[in-house]
Amino acid sequence: MDYSAIDEKFMRVAIELARRALAIPGAGEVGCVIVKNGEVVADGFNESELTIDPTAHAEIVAIRKAARKWNDINLCRATLYCTLQPCGMCSMACIWANIGGGIDEAQLLQQALEIENVNRMLADTSRPVHVLRSVELNLDPRGQGDMDEKSLARLDIVLGCFHSALRKKEDQTQRYLAALRNPAIQILGHPRGRIYNFRKGLTADWSQVCNLAAELDKAVEIDCYPDRQDLNVELLKVAKAAGCRISLGTDSHDPSQLGFIDLGLAAALWSGIQPERILNFMPLNQLSKWIANIR
Ligand SMILES: [Zn+2]
Ligand SMILES: [Zn+2]
Repeated sequence: MDYSAIDEKFMRVAIELARRALAIPGAGEVGCVIVKNGEVVADGFNESELTIDPTAHAEIVAIRKAARKWNDINLCRATLYCTLQPCGMCSMACIWANIGGGIDEAQLLQQALEIENVNRMLADTSRPVHVLRSVELNLDPRGQGDMDEKSLARLDIVLGCFHSALRKKEDQTQRYLAALRNPAIQILGHPRGRIYNFRKGLTADWSQVCNLAAELDKAVEIDCYPDRQDLNVELLKVAKAAGCRISLGTDSHDPSQLGFIDLGLAAALWSGIQPERILNFMPLNQLSKWIANIR
């Protein structure tokens, strides 16, 4: 896995913490720091023996501190550094806390510069490919994003997704309507938030959601990741009836996962989505024109 100079810097802070813990009787020599926007917001070392608590691993101690500090159980866009590979309990705690090592505005700008370079190189090849600048924007349950709108406007295309309050039982139509009305986004990503064998996903009046998407000329996504397949065939038929645009994404976390696109293509075919409605099939100039129109 790749790591940067920034990662190394914070890993060193965690190592220093583990070293200091060595001097404290009963403390375990594991250090952990939680970082957001380039700053350490919470830290911890293993306190299990010290507090006679088998769950007081360094990561849990740090996560609890960070959540209390922000008065929020959602620590998205924070990164956790630990001197030991997190155990099963701590890995799950990171998932519950939404710690995913998200991207901030500064990193987004850095990424834009890198993409610009890549595009320049690709333009000179015989089969030019153009890389788009994009981000999966984290939406809160009110449909609002957590990034500066000016930074988002500089991107080519923005996908908005819910990553919190995904186990609500009651109807969530309103949050979807709010998300679609958010001017910063063009695509509503993995709409239901369903993950096979883990989370059932949210319920909503999907025809109302897709009708608004059609009215605003925005797209809903087929997240092709096998555990997600979100939207699925059943809901794609609703989207087809509404006539909204469809975007196919693999949610790849690694190049080997790009092949998941086949699952989305199959679902689109099965549901009879017309090719003209699929963003991935649009030529670049048409795609850019569409985005400019709805911005
Ligand atoms: Zn642990
Ligand atoms: Zn997501």
